[in-house]
Amino acid sequence: MRVEGARPRARVFDVQRFSVHDGPGIRTTVFLSGCTLRCAWCHNPESFSGSSGRLLAPQQVLAEVLEDRDYYSTSGGGLTVSGGEPLIHREFLRSLLELAKGEGLHTCVQTAGAVPAAALLEVLEWVDLFQFDLKHMDPQRHRALTGASPEQIHQNAALLLTRGAKVEFRVPLVPGHNDDAQNLERVRVFLEAHGAAAVRLVPYQRGYLGKYQQLGLPARCAGVEPPSAAAVEAVAQRFRNQGLAVAIDA
Ligand code: SF4
Repeated sequence: MRVEGARPRARVFDVQRFSVHDGPGIRTTVFLSGCTLRCAWCHNPESFSGSSGRLLAPQQVLAEVLEDRDYYSTSGGGLTVSGGEPLIHREFLRSLLELAKGEGLHTCVQTAGAVPAAALLEVLEWVDLFQFDLKHMDPQRHRALTGASPEQIHQNAALLLTRGAKVEFRVPLVPGHNDDAQNLERVRVFLEAHGAAAVRLVPYQRGYLGKYQQLGLPARCAGVEPPSAAAVEAVAQRFRNQGLAVAIDA
């Protein structure tokens, strides 16, 4: 039996209401500070330090999330926890998800999977949907683009599927970095081998670059242009042909 005590707190650097790409329906997305990766195209560099945002308890976050509960019930939406990497706040995350499920909310966790497997297992029963990033399949390229090896990430993806979790894989499409035919084929093979059912394409966008300027950080993808609609559709078709349900972020 778990002993109830003081709830852990975590830094929340943003709360986005009325999100429509972070899981089904209308959702509130809560962004937690801190990440284990440093992706070249990261849209949330303010999360890198781990010290940005408000230090909040799960109950405080839930209270904000519940303000829009009417929208969740009419749209099939709910709570999404993102980051940064939300799974580095294991206790906080589990507590928040447990509270949300107690209120009957649908829960989604966005993760890059670069965490110990135990972190995933700790929250598994409280998560209705994982949105799980696959950034690059080649170990060397993955290290160069994110600062970490992909082995743990791929093992964790397989673990979730083995445990029966509902997983939507998110594939960022960053021209010149991970959208080549060879990498996309490796993604396809990986998804097929693990019996994945759904993939979400996340075309690169440039709207985040001002954040790097504000923070005085080098933006490694400053020169990258977004992929064309036709290029994104071609990738989508490749995955549809495989029998995957494909969603595309606007
Ligand atoms: S995993 Fe996500 S939050 Fe972390 S560095 Fe990569 S893109 Fe940014």
